[in-house]
Amino acid sequence: MSNGEIARREFLTGALASGAGLGMLSAHAQDGGATPAPVPEPAKRVPRRPLGKTGADVPILIMGCCQTLDPAYDKRLHRCYQLGVDHLDTAQMYAQGQSHKTIAPFIKQIGDRKKLWITSKVFQEGAKGTPEDFKTNLDSCLQDLETDYLDMFLLHIVQDPRLLGPEFIKMGEELKKSGKIRFFGFSCHHADSIPMLMNKAAESGGFDTVMFRYSFRECGDLALNKAIDACHKAGIGLIAIKTLASVPDDQEQVKQFQSKSFTLTQAKLKAVWADERIAAIASQMTAVEHVMENSAAAMSPEKLAMEEFMQLQQFAARSSHHHCKGCAGVCESCIDGPLRVADTLRYLMYAECYGQRDAARAMYAELPREQRMLEGVDLRAAIAACPQGIDLAGRLARAQELLA
Ligand code: SF4
Repeated sequence: MSNGEIARREFLTGALASGAGLGMLSAHAQDGGATPAPVPEPAKRVPRRPLGKTGADVPILIMGCCQTLDPAYDKRLHRCYQLGVDHLDTAQMYAQGQSHKTIAPFIKQIGDRKKLWITSKVFQEGAKGTPEDFKTNLDSCLQDLETDYLDMFLLHIVQDPRLLGPEFIKMGEELKKSGKIRFFGFSCHHADSIPMLMNKAAESGGFDTVMFRYSFRECGDLALNKAIDACHKAGIGLIAIKTLASVPDDQEQVKQFQSKSFTLTQAKLKAVWADERIAAIASQMTAVEHVMENSAAAMSPEKLAMEEFMQLQQFAARSSHHHCKGCAGVCESCIDGPLRVADTLRYLMYAECYGQRDAARAMYAELPREQRMLEGVDLRAAIAACPQGIDLAGRLARAQELLA
């Protein structure tokens, strides 16, 4: 099927539904469709939402650039741009450190830096990074991107609340004044620390944005919802990542999703967009078909039906033992040794669910050997502690088999 056909199919059959919670479902969905509502026209470009109190708005779909891009002419980036997805999310560590250098030619091809929004991120191990380290790395990012400013600069994969302290807030303010960045924030991936970090940011101020793990699986998480509320009230722009929260395709639960209108991927995105506290989803679209699929969902005015939302909830429950939430502190603190469970299972997901085996292997290879070593490691306490009931011995062995 051609890309155009895919898009037409999605528009023509698009009878979506909305709702991060049942209370958010449309009246049309709740009345069982007894009074057919006129079908609104899809938008021609991906809609935008305000990013907190920054005064800026962003497309609700952001292109994730943790992937190998074609510096000569990247069809995915150009298709995104044509559809209004003019916001790129990258990081210094993405694509084995090559992401910025492959985005630089795209910026030139567009020809006007102001027509693009570039977010980038710098990672420093929590115990080490200083503001000076981040500033030095920011300069390196700008050099590789061949630009003199970032629209948004994020501290990447924050776990340690120290990185949200006054010296880092001051650094953000100084960088904004210098013109090197427009907005400042952080990203957080680990489920066990996300609510704490978001609450801290909401209290302290100084952060324009938080990028955080949020999917249909977390819609009912009370602590996370309170933290989202706190940030939203504080005017912090919220960007969701890891929204697909996939499990391997060979799982029967994946095949059971039924919708007249939407793919499972589209339904997952719609569930997050239904939450109006969320400004945007950053999604790694590794093929033009993915750009078309995701942007069609973004442009469709239809909302998620209660039936589809319920299916997502059932899917989440049935597949939880295959989905790692990234709460690294929970299982890794039960293991005697430096084994990196959450990162390993994330790389396994990239390989098994998103067809990114090479990238996953490269990331796995970057882990120090002792953080990958399974032999002789007693996993029993970690297995007992895992809230998802994951077969850690089996899944980590599978990671070794596929990624080593
Ligand atoms: S394996 Fe379980 S405890 Fe460990 S990070 Fe994943 S979900 Fe959390």
